[in-house]
Amino acid sequence: MLSLFRHWRERRILGRHPIAEGDWRQTLAGTSALRRLSASEQARLRVLATFLLHEKSVEPVQGLELTGAMRARLAALACLPVLNLGLRWYRDWHSIVLYPDLFMPRREYTDAAGVVHRGHRVLEGEAWQRGPVILSWAGVAETGTPPGHNVVIHELAHKLDMLNGEPNGFPPLHGRMSRRAWSCSLAAAYRALEARVRQGYPPPLDPYALENPGEFFAVASEAFFETPRSLRDFDPELYRQLTLFYKQQPLAN
Ligand SMILES: [Zn+2]
Repeated sequence: MLSLFRHWRERRILGRHPIAEGDWRQTLAGTSALRRLSASEQARLRVLATFLLHEKSVEPVQGLELTGAMRARLAALACLPVLNLGLRWYRDWHSIVLYPDLFMPRREYTDAAGVVHRGHRVLEGEAWQRGPVILSWAGVAETGTPPGHNVVIHELAHKLDMLNGEPNGFPPLHGRMSRRAWSCSLAAAYRALEARVRQGYPPPLDPYALENPGEFFAVASEAFFETPRSLRDFDPELYRQLTLFYKQQPLAN
């Protein structure tokens, strides 16, 4: 009975708030990470994106005008990491705040040296523990530039990581995954990236990943969806652990 009710409710949402065909086609055309999906995965992503837009509030600020195509693109990118996990992985937050451009939060933060700053840091995205996801539309629009860059996936990877506390590169793993294999793999890849940067080689991942293990997981997630081949070439075991966590094989299609 419950599932009957759920299906009825879901059909009603899909019927009343569909993503327009043109907006969806534009979204797929403009995003290589989405073009890589099979036709049936794209269809499931569209359903998930419709539910996301129904469940979460997208709040444009500073005069940003949001079109249907922008909402479709944002929702599709946001749903890509949970395509095979489901929206319940986004259960602890309710809104996406969208700035037109890079933004500067007006509040204090403490840097690595313990110095407190007041809003001097310009951001492209931010995820608050149990709070909103904050993004700049300019960042969303520039997905894939440079290759591997995807601010939406980055911030939502932090959200997944925060499901079990502080973002530390250790999201809740699935039952059959080994916690040891996960942490050994991420730590080894972290050290390998560090060595490449130190030796002056072109880094296979954005060196921002070296800020801390939480940022490493978020940056590796961006690469997993945006540039999976180069991520796998850099570190096949890291790639494999991410396929287990996201339950996706970006290189299979
Ligand atoms: Zn981050």
